[in-house]
Amino acid sequence: MKLRLLALLALLLPAPALADSLVDNVNGITLDKDGKVIRFTGLVIDKDGKVVRLLDRKDKRPERPDFKVEGKGRTLMSGMIDAHGHVMALGFQALVLDLAPARSLAEAQKMIADYARANGNRTWIIGRGWNQEAWGLGRFPTNAELDAAVADRPVWLERIDGHAGWANSRAMAMAGITAKTVSPPGGRIEKTGAQPNGVFVDAAATLIAKFVPAPQPRERDLALAKAQQLLLSYGITTITDMGSSIDDWQAYRRAGDGDTLKLRILAYAAGVDAMVMIAGSGPTPWLYGDRLHLGGVKLYLDGALGSRGAWLKQPYTDAPKERGQPIVSGTQLSNLMSRAAKDGFQVAVHAIGDQANAQLLDSIGELAETYKGDRRWRIEHAQIVDPADLPRFGRNGIIASMQPVHATSDRLMAEARLGPDRLAGAYAWQSMLKMGAKLAFGSDVPVEDPNPFVGIAAAITREDAKGEPFGGWLPQEKVSREQALAGFTIGGAYAGFAEDRIGSLMPGMRADFILIDTDPLLATPAEIRAITVRETWVGGRPVYSRK
Ligand SMILES: [Zn+2]
Repeated sequence: MKLRLLALLALLLPAPALADSLVDNVNGITLDKDGKVIRFTGLVIDKDGKVVRLLDRKDKRPERPDFKVEGKGRTLMSGMIDAHGHVMALGFQALVLDLAPARSLAEAQKMIADYARANGNRTWIIGRGWNQEAWGLGRFPTNAELDAAVADRPVWLERIDGHAGWANSRAMAMAGITAKTVSPPGGRIEKTGAQPNGVFVDAAATLIAKFVPAPQPRERDLALAKAQQLLLSYGITTITDMGSSIDDWQAYRRAGDGDTLKLRILAYAAGVDAMVMIAGSGPTPWLYGDRLHLGGVKLYLDGALGSRGAWLKQPYTDAPKERGQPIVSGTQLSNLMSRAAKDGFQVAVHAIGDQANAQLLDSIGELAETYKGDRRWRIEHAQIVDPADLPRFGRNGIIASMQPVHATSDRLMAEARLGPDRLAGAYAWQSMLKMGAKLAFGSDVPVEDPNPFVGIAAAITREDAKGEPFGGWLPQEKVSREQALAGFTIGGAYAGFAEDRIGSLMPGMRADFILIDTDPLLATPAEIRAITVRETWVGGRPVYSRK
């Protein structure tokens, strides 16, 4: 009896050392919790996919590992964490027809016809990215020209800037569009004479768009699979999903239940209602071996700088009558934040303009008096901050969740919107760190390319891919290589209350790592930009390998 009990106990005990896996002969790099670089040449992983120990060249290797991977001297790093992205939007964008490469109307028509033929089971043909300027057309395309490509099913194609849509006759008939249809405020129906001719600008686009059927669960699953494949190929092992809907969450759960969730998703619900629907009265448990967790809510305070929706303290330099506006009042914002915080949810708020950031800092200051303890209030983007407000980022445990690539792609636009005198607190990564804010880096994918190495290169140079401007834009805001790496690893983990699970390869952490050919701590910025990932591992298992 006693023996049988012992045997049973043995089964319950952790696997013995000989069941470990070994990844050997690597140029291993990780950061410890304090951001210090730790180098190693071997990695021992247990059966649960956690790091057991890091090995130096002289350390003894396990004698009979279950599994051994020969690293061939390649660089092995912690998997990248994208602290702000949109998983399903990326997947859907990758699934629909992309017309951006078309160089003429005829080329676009051929692409549309081919796509419709290859997707015979789709009731609507959906796409994006057309640009009549690039076609040298000198006018918008028409419904008749779209009918020439596909006439048997409705087609709806968004223009490259998202500000217009192009419909075929079938789609227009389904939406009941006739010569009598009136353009809604803020929109315009393009016409030939009195007849609508296929293009619907701005608010008029909803006349058609509202008839496009919502994606079915099967399509959502396909989009999630596509997004996972893309993100893992860039070495992203965890993404923070900023604004998950109940439909998104259900797709993540289906993937988890079906064992097809390879990526880790830190979800923030799209508003308080979605938060309650998904999680009820508090953050969800960590599901599927730490692959899915909803810990907080995403709220919006203002819009974006490009469309002058960012809420500024002073008018826009290039539109002196505008200064953007808040989406909710200060009181409404505090109420929403409070609603989440009282049930222990983490709060992440989108704030881009300097007035939005100031308002949000006020709200956080006020709420921090009620909701004490480790709250990690997240400010998403924190793009334009009045230098006078910067020190406030160092109080109340605030996390500045920022996207390095935005600084390089927004530079000229930001200068036009703000003029030269308001840039001192723009995309101010180094100032945030100096003030004591915690920094987490991401891409805002699919707004930007999710490649974290492009993000790291932007963070350390503040130059774009062409090396402009030489020496970097507002170069005092560059961060070091170690700080940039921290932003994409331990910083992102900390921002999601996940620093005891992911972001580092210290013993006890999940073995999420990538194998690459270049050491980003030694390479030039151009070499860092060019890094491609050979292999991506999540929880000690390979999930991506470059062909
Ligand atoms: Zn976003």
